[in-house]
Amino acid sequence: MTTSSPWRATVLTLFPEMFPGPLGVSLAGRALAAGLWELEARDIRASATDRHRSVDDTPAGGGPGMVLRADILAAATDAVGVASDRPRLLMSPRGRPLTQSRVQELAAGPGPLIVCGRFEGVDQRVIDARALEEVSIGDYVLSGGEIAAFAVIDACVRLLPGVMGKEASGAEESFSDGLLEYPQYTRPQLFEGVPIPPILLSGDHARVAAWRRAEAEALTAARRPDLMKKAASQKAPKDKTDG
Ligand code: SAM
Repeated sequence: MTTSSPWRATVLTLFPEMFPGPLGVSLAGRALAAGLWELEARDIRASATDRHRSVDDTPAGGGPGMVLRADILAAATDAVGVASDRPRLLMSPRGRPLTQSRVQELAAGPGPLIVCGRFEGVDQRVIDARALEEVSIGDYVLSGGEIAAFAVIDACVRLLPGVMGKEASGAEESFSDGLLEYPQYTRPQLFEGVPIPPILLSGDHARVAAWRRAEAEALTAARRPDLMKKAASQKAPKDKTDG
């Protein structure tokens, strides 16, 4: 399907003033200014119904903190009028960890609605009723979903057509082939007595590619044996020569 409207991120947050924040500078910021993508930050509090504009209440069953109310968040989600083909994400430490392949899927689509939690989290009923996909950016707890939303959006935006300078720069990065990226070097040729590995200056592209592949495998095996195992199992049924 072709669509004339650019990729769009719609963020539901209690702090819309945090946006675009870091997404307004550098690569993402230039692309935003150029109209290559769109960002809409909506205030969840605009859907509050009482005169105190409250959005949270105490947890049923007791316990510390407050919980974002299902009715308020449902109204805020519905007010966006999200087209059914737009993914609806909820930033959540209990979500499925974000991966580069999920980022690639999100970047290839129309752009997500992203709900940012706060307090102790979100009433389960709205997660279920609005089919929110819980996404985590790591095994640690942030105070709110906004920083997680920045990470998701930034990772997607850099993959959008026309955003990165060279089309190739996304293709060889960490995770693109299931491995961490090989080490990078640039001038000066000698830094504190350490030279650039001579093979990288040899001009022999095949040997450079083989060296990089070996370095990427060694690094991944040392730092992320889980990825190494996955890459090996995905490669097993295929010809070893594929890239
Ligand atoms: N009580 C929750 C728990 O233990 O799972 C943590 C709530 S946290 C203080 C508040 C909000 O920050 C969450 O609702 C979520 O939106 C966001 N958040 C925190 N850590 C996150 C992570 N690792 N990935 C994505 N979102 C996160």
